[in-house]
Amino acid sequence: MNGLMMDVSLTITSIMQHAQQVHGDQEIVSVTRDNPRHRYTYREAFKRTRQLANAMAAWKLPRGSRIATLAWNDYRHFETYYATACSGYVCHTINPRLFPEQIVYIINHADDQVVFVDPDFMPLIEAVAGQCPNVREWVVLTTEDHMPDTKLSNVTCYERLVHGHSDQFTWPDLDEREACALCYTSGTTGNPKGVLYSHRSTMLHAYATLMPDAMGLSARDAVLPIVPMFHVNAWGTPYACPMVGAKLVYPGNKMGDGETLSALINEEGVTMSAGVPTVWLGLLAYLKASGNTVESLKRIIVGGAACPLSVMEDFDRYGVETRVGWGMTEMSPLGSVNESTAARDEYGEEVFAKQRLKAGRPIFGVEMKIVDDEGKELPWDGEAFGSLKVRGPWICSNYYEIEGASDAHSEEGWFETGDVATIDAQGYMAITDRTKDVIKSGGEWISSIDVENVATDHPKVAEAAVIGRYHPKWSERPLLVVVRAPDGQDLSSEEMLAWFDGKIAKWWTPDAVEFVDELPHGATGKIHKVGLRDQFKDYAFEA
Ligand code: AMP
Repeated sequence: MNGLMMDVSLTITSIMQHAQQVHGDQEIVSVTRDNPRHRYTYREAFKRTRQLANAMAAWKLPRGSRIATLAWNDYRHFETYYATACSGYVCHTINPRLFPEQIVYIINHADDQVVFVDPDFMPLIEAVAGQCPNVREWVVLTTEDHMPDTKLSNVTCYERLVHGHSDQFTWPDLDEREACALCYTSGTTGNPKGVLYSHRSTMLHAYATLMPDAMGLSARDAVLPIVPMFHVNAWGTPYACPMVGAKLVYPGNKMGDGETLSALINEEGVTMSAGVPTVWLGLLAYLKASGNTVESLKRIIVGGAACPLSVMEDFDRYGVETRVGWGMTEMSPLGSVNESTAARDEYGEEVFAKQRLKAGRPIFGVEMKIVDDEGKELPWDGEAFGSLKVRGPWICSNYYEIEGASDAHSEEGWFETGDVATIDAQGYMAITDRTKDVIKSGGEWISSIDVENVATDHPKVAEAAVIGRYHPKWSERPLLVVVRAPDGQDLSSEEMLAWFDGKIAKWWTPDAVEFVDELPHGATGKIHKVGLRDQFKDYAFEA
């Protein structure tokens, strides 16, 4: 017998309608190139979104067309998110830090019809436009006064585009399974692959992120997403915040600038922020140097890569709770959150230091399992390492426009994350490696993430990475590559290696240390291990 409840489509159009009616006075504050502090309300944001939707309708694009953005976190980018998706198009967010050849590849692969571009990226657009024949229009996200000079002919000013249009628009009825957004993974090998989100997956993911032990947002929050809107939709915050009426504070192109971030937090009363580990280093360095504090900030979500313990402990001193989040582009992105800080009194200091580094417990809606090389499920005992697989309604069932099922989807109904993990009896998952980065010494696995965590805790270390290199006896042994901290220039290999004593298993201790001025980083700010292995390709240990 079926239930007798209304079958209302879960579409993000409803977020827009709810936010303007119920939280219409709540603010969105942005840093843009043409205004250091733009502010307006959700009501005004969605009024302009309707004007933009009218402008887009004039292009007469078929339903499902891809419209791209190459933009920072700000209010105009927010408007394009909703105007595209709620009109029945797909908002394709492009990561401007990809190589130009990759950008050309994904614009053409996605068959983008129009691209909304921040003025900062005009030189990039001028370099690639000739290779993107299907783009009919490049819309520059600024005012007429700030339009950059360009030789391109098909360039429009965003404000001119929006202003001429009516603010009345009837949004189409959409099926919840229709696509609303597209994001390409910045894979380290091969071409980027597209993850195509539906209205339904986006809505369910946004609901889930709002749970108290996940992001735990409410109308009393002011949220500063430092994670870019081109990195898995800023982890769903453009949808979750208007759902509950949280204030949005957007840093524009200043996401790496500790002084601007500190000013935004203090002046806008930011309570929660989210970003990859690297961005926090900039903010913490600024706070230490300036003596400023961040009184309003209660909580940060750190994800995208393992978070060093030193970052968490620095934030403890500022009264900020650090929650590790784990996820992937393929997972919208959130899969697990570590909320252990809430119960820190229940742990001893040492146990807590270990516990808080884990990737956390799966949020409801995400199922996990770890399997060995034969696909056999491994126990949740916190010891067994295995390949991590996930399933759930906001996890991709295949990539956009590829032939056949991807390798990651070889087991029916499950997605292979490419991460290696342990899960303990309480459900806390810990990432030990990417499958491709695992170091196999004498047939046993060494967790490069655990070794890196210990290394980065050394006060003289700014950044560290571990890679496996050939060893005649063990087949592979770990090599530690270190960037010294500015005031740690005297750090020696002996001092570094002695630091591992008693902190990790003896046989996990790297065989050697190499010091470098910087590590290679990928487009989302993570350490680029393939590049690093390439840099040290001729390095081999002696027996
Ligand atoms: P992306 O799709 O670019 O967000 O990358 C997803 C990958 O980032 C995951 O498969 C992990 O390898 C890594 N990652 C994300 N969050 C964490 C975390 N909290 N700890 C360790 N690795 C992480």
